[in-house]
Amino acid sequence: MPAMTMTEKILARASGKSSVAPGENVWANVDVLMTHDVCGPGTFGVFKKEFGKDAKVWDREKVVLIPDHYIFTKDAMANRNVDVLRQFAKEQDITYFYDVGTERYKGVCHIALPEEGHTRPGEVLLGTDSHTCTAGAFGEFATGIGNTDAGFVLGTGKLWLKVPPTMRFVFKGNLPPYLMAKDLILAVIGDIGVDGATYRAMEFDGDGVYALNIEERMTLCNMAIEAGGKNGIIAADQVTFDYVNKRNAGQKPYQAVRTDPGATFAFEKVYDVSKLEPVIAKPHSPDNKAFVSEVKGTKLDRAYIGSCTGGKLTDFKAAAELLNGKSVKIDTFVVPATTEVARGLDTEKVGGKSLREVFLAAGAKIGDASCAACLGGPSDTFGRLNTPISCISTTNRNFPGRMGHKEAKVFLASPLTVAASALAGTIADCRDLLV
Ligand code: SF4
Repeated sequence: MPAMTMTEKILARASGKSSVAPGENVWANVDVLMTHDVCGPGTFGVFKKEFGKDAKVWDREKVVLIPDHYIFTKDAMANRNVDVLRQFAKEQDITYFYDVGTERYKGVCHIALPEEGHTRPGEVLLGTDSHTCTAGAFGEFATGIGNTDAGFVLGTGKLWLKVPPTMRFVFKGNLPPYLMAKDLILAVIGDIGVDGATYRAMEFDGDGVYALNIEERMTLCNMAIEAGGKNGIIAADQVTFDYVNKRNAGQKPYQAVRTDPGATFAFEKVYDVSKLEPVIAKPHSPDNKAFVSEVKGTKLDRAYIGSCTGGKLTDFKAAAELLNGKSVKIDTFVVPATTEVARGLDTEKVGGKSLREVFLAAGAKIGDASCAACLGGPSDTFGRLNTPISCISTTNRNFPGRMGHKEAKVFLASPLTVAASALAGTIADCRDLLV
């Protein structure tokens, strides 16, 4: 049998083949299909049109519905979308529906999926959202698909997929305390460009990766799509198993895979993380890379810490370490990705104070768990850039209009850099506060 990468092995198994090669098309069996309030209604429409108005989904336990995008708004269309999810969940008797206004409400889908035990090594997870690649952090094939494909998956449990070639990024060395996973992935995207990994798997490897906790690994995989990647993936290790085994919904058996020695990579690059500096993406593209030291002093109006890539407990702990006992100089918005992360703001402590106490004492505003202003949203969305201001953000995209106003400028950076900048009112180097 030929040596295969993790991505190839997962797609081979999912399609019942002993081996597959890049470029080959396969019918892959899907383990989990996730959809949310933005794409769910369209997906259900395709499903009903193609399979009939009384059709049933292929497996009600493999469909996960997570309203998260336009949640806390008076916008009637946005509210209607959540209602459509409710109707569909009821009609199909969907097991995993995390409805707004109930105890089950979670927040951002890509963090809710692992927290609720829907991510498992070796599986195929598809979602109607481009950042579905986040789940590659658990050693699975996870990718975003459109409503048409998702409607087909609802009816059949399968999807016709082309096996992507794999690019390998090796991070070696010890991560200095001033760097986070966001710095690493912004460095990669800056080096290869927003189309540098188009329809390729991005495999992250090396001791620098396995030293990261699971949330930081999610940040790496989350932004594979910002380089055009089909999926990001990290081999499962004990850190992964410890997390997954505690949460695994339905205690489903799974089988982890590893890349074979001798597998073929389309590209390889090695980073010595001990030599990297904090990285930032300037407006208006995630690949518009600069070192923070090159843009230090640039005036800002707002700081934003949130989203699926920058609103996890690790992100807030890092920011709180810098904000503790100090005051922000610009409007600073804190948005936990999920309700579990929001609870962590009260239980996690820095210097004897809860993270929530630290943020509030520093003058930051804290929102409810959701996507909030990461995607702009209706004008009453918490933290939205409604005027052409400059914002530094832990989110993953900074295209014009992404966080609201088309002329607003968004700089993407790690939570450490965002917190340091919130304190200065200008882009600041967190190394100045950490030494
Ligand atoms: S937090 Fe932002 S990037 Fe993540 S799913 Fe929501 S809108 Fe998309």
